[in-house]
Amino acid sequence: MHKTDFPVEKYRKDFPILERKIGKYPLVYFDNAATSQTPKQVIEAISNYYATYNSNIHRGVHTLSNEATDAYEQSRKKIQAHFNAAHPHEIIFTSGTTHAINLVASGFKNFIKEGDELIVSALEHHSNIVPWQMLCEQTGAVLKVIPMLQSGILDMKAFDQMLSDKTKLIFCNHVSNALGVINPISELIEKGHSVGAAVLIDGAQAAPHIQADVQELDVDFYVVSAHKMCGPTGVGVLYAKEEWLNKLPPYQGGGEMIAEVSFEKTTYAGLPHKFEAGTPNICGGIAFGAALDYMNAIGIKNIAEYENELLTYATTRLKEISELRIIGDVAHKTAVISFVVEGAHPYDIGSILDKMGIAVRTGHHCAQPIMDFYQIPGTIRASFSFYNTFEEIDRLIEALKRALSMLL
Ligand SMILES: *Cc1c(COP(=O)(O)O)cnc(C)c1O
Repeated sequence: MHKTDFPVEKYRKDFPILERKIGKYPLVYFDNAATSQTPKQVIEAISNYYATYNSNIHRGVHTLSNEATDAYEQSRKKIQAHFNAAHPHEIIFTSGTTHAINLVASGFKNFIKEGDELIVSALEHHSNIVPWQMLCEQTGAVLKVIPMLQSGILDMKAFDQMLSDKTKLIFCNHVSNALGVINPISELIEKGHSVGAAVLIDGAQAAPHIQADVQELDVDFYVVSAHKMCGPTGVGVLYAKEEWLNKLPPYQGGGEMIAEVSFEKTTYAGLPHKFEAGTPNICGGIAFGAALDYMNAIGIKNIAEYENELLTYATTRLKEISELRIIGDVAHKTAVISFVVEGAHPYDIGSILDKMGIAVRTGHHCAQPIMDFYQIPGTIRASFSFYNTFEEIDRLIEALKRALSMLL
């Protein structure tokens, strides 16, 4: 029935957690948009680090420190290559997407003045809204919102009308975490640049499914979190064009980010260290590299193709349930399905699914403006990864039907 020849059973063996049971049921993990699971290759990179060369980086003369520094910098190069950045120093390690966006928003205080305009999309995660609202409060800049259409896509005609020479910055996610909708980022970047605005793309939800080429996109800033792409939590990166990193002030002061310190004057270190104050998540940075190695060995294209088949199958099967409505059922999306059921609260459905071993997310998915737009309290979100199977989707459908027979 399924045409795929993707060796999912082989890859599933790499994920120890997939052997877990929830009560008497084998775990079905459909919360990949919140965080992905970790293959043993990445778990081994983490335990190998702590077991054999745990050490602080960039300062030691001793062997362990040199090994840790090499592995950390090697990882930076892998990330550079993966996103096709022009230089390794354009990759800044952060604690994740949220930290990366705050770093840029904080730096822009120097370039934004009262009356300037920033444009955000209606489809954003709170972490790509709140730091900019704080920037606007501090500077008197105005935040404009690209509205969304009922279908779940952005109203690009409205975007065209709000662009002007007052526009200084545009920020948008590549893929919406709440709906899975893929946004027209090339168009946003090109049009943004045509009025002299800088563009930041939040790639947190896209990176596990779409391989972005930052030079081809010509994007100014691209941010991701490792934990959504088979890596550990607490690490991510900011990609920024070198010219922006030279212009932006440091975000935090401390060790590692300085050239020289005296009480009269401190000079800052060069890139990327200017933005990496303090001891970073060394092990996490190294494990991020291992996660990219793992995903690239499978191939992001192959992953996306298989996930697309899962998405098509799940969408068709969910539509068997007449009370169920998919939110953001658009052609151009990743393997995320958000839905509501007339007469049943998402939380109640999610709790019953959990009792049957199925992990989905319920709620506003850190995107309350989207929920307000649809006038719903939240959705149930099933998000798939390449280690999920068609059989697991069948289990979701059966469990949903049972849950609804109890609730409706
Ligand atoms: C997960 C996510 C974030 C936040 O990432 P953190 O790792 O929590 O910082 C931001 N934007 C999108 C689109 C996301 O999916």
